[in-house]
Amino acid sequence: IEELLRRSEKLNTVGQLAAGVAHEIRNPLTTLRGFLQLQQQTRSVNPDHIDLMLSELDRINLIVSEFLILAKPQAIHFQERDVRGILRDVISFLDSQAHLYGVEVKLDFSSEPALVHCEENQLKQVFINLLKNAFEAMPDGGTVTITLKRPEGDHVLITIQDEGHGIPEELMPHLGEPFITNKETGTGLGLMVSQRIIQGHQGTLEIESKSGVGTKISIVLPAARQSDMEASSNDE
Ligand code: ADP
Ligand code: MG
Repeated sequence: IEELLRRSEKLNTVGQLAAGVAHEIRNPLTTLRGFLQLQQQTRSVNPDHIDLMLSELDRINLIVSEFLILAKPQAIHFQERDVRGILRDVISFLDSQAHLYGVEVKLDFSSEPALVHCEENQLKQVFINLLKNAFEAMPDGGTVTITLKRPEGDHVLITIQDEGHGIPEELMPHLGEPFITNKETGTGLGLMVSQRIIQGHQGTLEIESKSGVGTKISIVLPAARQSDMEASSNDE
């Protein structure tokens, strides 16, 4: 029964998500159709309308690609990776964006490797989502501080602290639900996707935010150790 319950819960979430995606895509489609119809009637092309149509198409594309990350087949490759390397890759990937926002990214890493079993591309996606949110919260620039520690031997703790405007209090209880956004061109999928990916890695993602002070995201992941492998092969 427990298994059945769990499955129906899962289906329910998938159904809700699908309904949400359909809804979010229908809006820009309606706009697109309207502009096309107008051009058909007037038999003329308005460049402003073309711009609007292109941005609506981009929006559909964005929603679909964020959503696809979740839909990826489950048989993903977990490999042992150093989180420090993954973070450095992501930061250099986002370097020009950081410049654009006038944001400085500071790293505070421990000197020892922080190995985890992970799907590298998924973790990269999480850090990209979180750093983009941090940048977007600091339109006048500031500092994002990323720390990486091993508080207890068997966990890796990653924190991302920004100096942005903070998360509106009324949004806090809804974070992790799809389509929660207060941005004009936001999809409201980034945090939900990130939370799911971290859950899929047996980790946790916590959000603290103070209006006008900033937002801190804390991620805890199980650390991979050589002895893990030995232990699991001895288990049988
Ligand atoms: P999106 O960025 O597309 O709006 P997300 O799921 O990434 O969607 O974030 C959801 C909402 O949470 C954002 O619209 C924003 O209001 C809030 N939020 C998330 N991260 C931050 C942050 N670092 N600072 C301020 N607000 C944030
Ligand atoms: Mg986002």
